[in-house]
Amino acid sequence: RTGTAIITGASSGLGLATAKALSESGKWHVIMACRDYLKAARAARAAGMAKGSYTIVHLDLASLDSVRQFVSNVRGLGMPIDVVVCNAAVYQPTAKQPSFTADGFELSVGVNHLGHFLLARELLEDLKSSDFPSKRLIIVGSITGNTNTLAGNVPPKANLGDLRGLAAGLNGTASSAMIDGGEFDGAKAYKDSKVCNMLTMQEFHRRFHEETGVTFASLYPGCIATTGLFREHVPLFRFLFPPFQKYITKGYVSEEEAGKRLAQVVSEPSLTKSGVYWSWNQNSASFENQLSEEASDTEKARKVWELSEKLVGLA
Ligand code: NDP
Repeated sequence: RTGTAIITGASSGLGLATAKALSESGKWHVIMACRDYLKAARAARAAGMAKGSYTIVHLDLASLDSVRQFVSNVRGLGMPIDVVVCNAAVYQPTAKQPSFTADGFELSVGVNHLGHFLLARELLEDLKSSDFPSKRLIIVGSITGNTNTLAGNVPPKANLGDLRGLAAGLNGTASSAMIDGGEFDGAKAYKDSKVCNMLTMQEFHRRFHEETGVTFASLYPGCIATTGLFREHVPLFRFLFPPFQKYITKGYVSEEEAGKRLAQVVSEPSLTKSGVYWSWNQNSASFENQLSEEASDTEKARKVWELSEKLVGLA
């Protein structure tokens, strides 16, 4: 049968390109989980996605209520849920002050990590009960959270410290808006959130792979320098970043190519190994990449998991 894949943030960039690649394969029905219904509908049409190949369901990851509502709405569709892709993200590199989710969490970690954490935890039940041959939960990571790479060493570097800000609620009033309890820095908050994404994927693997048979994976699809992720950056940066990535770092990848890579992680029969962080080399061949020390710290993964459970009301 056709597989059903949920993709968060499928209204632009990598999420849209992946939705398009899966829909074009004819083997997938895509549930586009998006905060802006109309934008998603226009994007799917403009991408030429066949009408019956996708369903748009509203999801605002900046609200835990919206996440719970989404889960209930998706179940109401009566489709099996075979693959879940946590892709949506916000990046606020120039923000001077933190902004907050409906539940009062700093926005980047609130959306990129906590919203997805609740979503993934809820949908694990559905993945478990699917009869699809290869069920997968994929969380999009990033090189920038990996301090064992050149890109990951551009300051401000990701660092979750002793998690004191997360433990205190990440709310910017009673506690710091940063996971490590430090001063707010939008670029660092994004990188920290990506470390949480990679830690979460591994913790899922350790806790649930054997029991559920679900494949848990993360990936760095390459630098997609043209996506909306950089919309809040200064204009000169947005102008220079794509050619810099193309000609200097050579890490540049088009949205289309990155979408094909993520679609492989969704559907390739050869990519069923769980607990893996996938990357691609210059020839576009996938390989199992190494995570930085912090992003593979099992003790930290467990602590992030437990603190996140409390914040999203699961513990
Ligand atoms: P985009 O900004 O193009 O896409 C992000 C998507 O997330 C958009 O569809 C956006 O919705 C959605 N989103 C943002 N906030 C919310 C929310 N509160 N609720 C629901 N959806 C939301 O960026 P990319 O395609 O580049 O990013 C996709 C993923 O790829 C991210 O996880 C990012 O960290 C990762 N990544 C990107 C790289 C790059 O070079 N671009 C490199 C490595 C990883 P809307 O359309 O409404 O704004």
